Amino acid sequence: MILISHEQQLEDLKQRLKEVDDLERASAVLYWDMSTYMPPGGSAGRGQMLSTLSQVAHEKFTSAEIGKLLDTLQSYGEALPHDHDDAALLRVTRRNYDRRIKLPARFVGEVTEHVSHVYQLWTTARPANDWAKVRDPLKKTLELSRRGAEYFAPYDHIADPMIDMSDYGMKTADIRRVFGELREELVPLVKAITAQQPADDSALHRFFPEAAQIAFGEAVIRDMGYDFERGRQDKTAHPFMIRFNSGDIRILTRVDEHYFNDAFFSTVHEAGHAMYEQGINPAYDGTPLAEGTSAGVHESQSRTWENIVARSREFWQHYFPRLQQMFPDALGDVTMDTFHRAVNKVVPSLIRVDADEVTYNLHVMIRFDLEVALLEGALEIDDLPRAWDERYTHDLGITPPDYQHGVMQDVHWFSGTFGGAFQGYTLGNLLSAQFYEAALKAHPTIPAEIARGHFGTLHSWLKDNIYQYGSKLTAPELIQRVTGGGVEVAPLMRYLRTRFGELYSL
Ligand code: ZN
Repeated sequence: MILISHEQQLEDLKQRLKEVDDLERASAVLYWDMSTYMPPGGSAGRGQMLSTLSQVAHEKFTSAEIGKLLDTLQSYGEALPHDHDDAALLRVTRRNYDRRIKLPARFVGEVTEHVSHVYQLWTTARPANDWAKVRDPLKKTLELSRRGAEYFAPYDHIADPMIDMSDYGMKTADIRRVFGELREELVPLVKAITAQQPADDSALHRFFPEAAQIAFGEAVIRDMGYDFERGRQDKTAHPFMIRFNSGDIRILTRVDEHYFNDAFFSTVHEAGHAMYEQGINPAYDGTPLAEGTSAGVHESQSRTWENIVARSREFWQHYFPRLQQMFPDALGDVTMDTFHRAVNKVVPSLIRVDADEVTYNLHVMIRFDLEVALLEGALEIDDLPRAWDERYTHDLGITPPDYQHGVMQDVHWFSGTFGGAFQGYTLGNLLSAQFYEAALKAHPTIPAEIARGHFGTLHSWLKDNIYQYGSKLTAPELIQRVTGGGVEVAPLMRYLRTRFGELYSL
């Protein structure tokens, strides 16, 4: 019998994980190209390539060899200190492995096929306001979502397995409690703000030439700490961030020459995601530790830069004069105060992705509550449009005029299954405020530095306390370490009341 040392087994495991990672990152490059420069004719062939690569990566990752290595290395990992990189690697790989082998390939294929069919239907049904066309297919989506959850039984709540995939360690019950508390505080704040005259944001709708918009956005994120030696920005239809390896983390934006917010805030948002990924310990490259730890924590990093920093008065004190110089025709007669109020305009709307930061979470919580009710069987698809409209009327004070601006508004239920896709957005907003309070406690000078266009202290604090860990710490572990507790509502409410209290003299 040949004895193989733990070191050799661990090397073997890392080598195999690296191969899986290579395949997945190659898919990422193909996906990036598909979303940027690929001519329309490439689409069918590209879909086929991506499907082959993801199948090969899945087979490699769920191989018996990786399973065996995880089994034999289990006791070694458990004997290590919890904080040890190898222990974390073995825990996270085991978690991902178990999750992947529980779903039969045939079921995954059935879901993928059904979901892409529903998405195709939705793209034409939504503009035609044709709810009947997607209603029955959505019933099938719900049935598949429930069946998917069963592969992870036993669970405390049927939505838990889906939430676990994007926000590991969070349970439906905890999220419901936190969201319930947040909703109770937010609804009256929105009412108090909307009782006042809305901010004048007409300046944002003037003409902003594309090249100057891109130049300004890139100058700002360079100041913030996005490293262009290890990244680049390109244009796409729906902005996102994508990681190829620690030396190449890209962002994508879109430009509307008649609306300043679109490109600028999406550039800063995606740069927030990208700085998180650029800050992960490069030693984790090629392993499952080399990515953000959860949807909620990832979103907290984009929101920190997009909202807390780039919508602050201090930020525009520094950058508005430069912006005015770059766009003299659009902004020559606009004051900093008017501009600052405009980028913080609060107005209840029907479309989640266009929402301001006060009303945004209400959109998310409506979707979360409804999808949980669907999964529980407390709500039927036939009653979904009515339930949607009731919540909009109650929470935001506006009633959708049709399906297109109501139940068919948001892409998620028409491009995936029910459960797990929404909670991360609001968890991210809550966490961004909690983390920022912790950063301010350590470095009270951060706002004064932002007013001079200096972001080094904040960026370093985020790197030391959040970025570097990648997925080594779970979200609950990370939150505990940074804040000393769990997810909380109070910091976000303090932040919103301070910022919007000043803007709207509440
Ligand atoms: Zn995001």
